[in-house]
Amino acid sequence: MALRPEFHFSSVLEHSALNNNFECFQGNPLNRLNLHRKSIKDVAQHTQSRFLSYRQLKVLFDQEKKQPTWLTYEFLFENNKNTNNEIKLTLDQCEIVLLGIGSRFIADRPSSITNTESTKIDNKLLNKYLLASEPTPDEYIYFALSIPTQFADNLPGTYMDLRSLLPQLSVIDAAICGQGRALLDWHASYQYCGKCGSTTNSLEGGTRRKCTKCNNTIYPRTDPVAITLVIHSDKEHVLLGRKATFPPFMFTCLAGFIEPGESIPEACSREVWEESGVIVDTNLTRYFDSQPWPFLGGQLMIGCFTSAIDETITLHDSELEDCRWFSRDEVGEMIERSRDVNLDKNDKGLRIPPPFAIAHQLIYNWHSTTPKI
Ligand SMILES: [Zn+2]
Repeated sequence: MALRPEFHFSSVLEHSALNNNFECFQGNPLNRLNLHRKSIKDVAQHTQSRFLSYRQLKVLFDQEKKQPTWLTYEFLFENNKNTNNEIKLTLDQCEIVLLGIGSRFIADRPSSITNTESTKIDNKLLNKYLLASEPTPDEYIYFALSIPTQFADNLPGTYMDLRSLLPQLSVIDAAICGQGRALLDWHASYQYCGKCGSTTNSLEGGTRRKCTKCNNTIYPRTDPVAITLVIHSDKEHVLLGRKATFPPFMFTCLAGFIEPGESIPEACSREVWEESGVIVDTNLTRYFDSQPWPFLGGQLMIGCFTSAIDETITLHDSELEDCRWFSRDEVGEMIERSRDVNLDKNDKGLRIPPPFAIAHQLIYNWHSTTPKI
């Protein structure tokens, strides 16, 4: 869904429960264009630059304000007090990536904005917004940076794992933190050239890396994953499975990486057959929505509905420990349990992933609307 003209300050949990095709890590309001063509060091020293720190991919979070900690260049690099080290932290010691230009509100949240609010930008401003190459007085230039492990910093906030932090984040904060995490993870993994083994340098705001010896250029990776809700030919049941590693009682859609040379429907068909033995009609696979997933190297979950033509379950590759057809009524109860924030810890009822996961929205949409495929 196109969220760009809107700033969703509402919480990820609330927004995903209220919007049938919203999942976390969508809704990034930053303009990623143009600025990266300049020297990142020059841009970083701009008085309107703001930085989000990561350590070992954990993000700096302000527990009091309930939002990520954004810091100025001066605070980070011109002030010795911010590290326990005698050596001053410098820009050259950090991996730094440009996230984009966006409203000052992202960093300096006015008290008038509550965590249940969505602020819309006037559509007339959209062209200016998309073409911007300099921040207006109402905007900041946003960066993410990775603080080297040898620096024991005293920066204000707590470094937190993004996945466990998610329930506390707003829509835009989750999307921006996810963008930063995925990019910094990619930079950390591609310090050396895959062709000749020499070191690589970050270029153009961290949007690519280049080998210092053979000039091989490397671009940030996104690994596509097909996630499929298979609908029974009776239209009244869907196929859900569970791996042994899942939380207890949780079932979800079947999913797997799209392999080289495969279309999205072909990957859905292969994965469903490998994991469950069910045969689907590739021609009846329909795109639903996609969700950036900034973990495990940076994935894009591509959600699809498809229809079965042979419903016999055979667990071919033993990736799943269980896989079943669930009726509409059973799915209704599973949805309710997954949305119940007060669910008893000892409740042994079956459930699906929470609303901020694309699997939940696929299942919820089938249950409430029955997609025409
Ligand atoms: Zn090379």
